[in-house]
Amino acid sequence: MSIAGGVPRAIERALSVDATALQIFVKNNNQWRAKPFADGEPEAFRQAVSDADLGEALIAHASYLINVASPDEALWNKSIEALAVELRRCAELGVPGLVLHPGSHVGQGVEAGLERAAAGLDRALEQAEGPTRILLEITAGQGSNLGCSFEQLAGILDQVAVRDGYGICFDTCHALAAGYEFRDAESYAETFDALDRAVGLDSIAAFHLNDSKMPLGSRRDRHEHIGKGELGLEPFRLLLNDPRFEQVPMVLETPKNKDLEDDRVNLATLRGLIAS
Ligand SMILES: [Zn+2]
Repeated sequence: MSIAGGVPRAIERALSVDATALQIFVKNNNQWRAKPFADGEPEAFRQAVSDADLGEALIAHASYLINVASPDEALWNKSIEALAVELRRCAELGVPGLVLHPGSHVGQGVEAGLERAAAGLDRALEQAEGPTRILLEITAGQGSNLGCSFEQLAGILDQVAVRDGYGICFDTCHALAAGYEFRDAESYAETFDALDRAVGLDSIAAFHLNDSKMPLGSRRDRHEHIGKGELGLEPFRLLLNDPRFEQVPMVLETPKNKDLEDDRVNLATLRGLIAS
């Protein structure tokens, strides 16, 4: 949800569509610079979160510029610094998890990239010194993007110093694009068994519920309205009725207009799938 006009506005917007979970950016996501919060802004946000009872279901998404796997020393350092700043802003706002794309290896190769990412992530967590966890998101695997397989996510988590500082964010669109089938009960069970073996299902701290414009294994990241893309409704029905994920925040990253009507429609579609 947009934070235009100040972070507390995101809560108003969330309530206006009857959301019970929320993802925000904690700064402009396409700039390195982070404008300091206005006086009282974090306090007002935390109060609004508490009034709306959204505290347990609140996550943030890190800037797309950050590449903690970068082989370029200057960009790597800049990424670590920017990630630490975002983690500190999350802590100020009381946001427990910051979703991050694990980065791109840019020609170093996957193994070197995973090692580089783990080292960079640890440095950012150490600099931030706060309670906010980094939630590594499964990616569609475009270009040299890391994190497009459960094994790659495990490859990072197995190398970090403080495992408790990390979790996983499962994006349904990315998973399909990365080649994971979960559109019927059998493939759903297999895919989540594989995820369990790789990182443990208790690592999953957030879901991004998006349909996909692109087919299975396309490695292309194009979000679509719920039920209108390659995923259809069934995988969402399976997820929403899976008791293992009952307490895990699930948010939309589907296209939307300014009036947020698209959010209302997508939420209604998803809620309609929940067995009473
Ligand atoms: Zn996502």
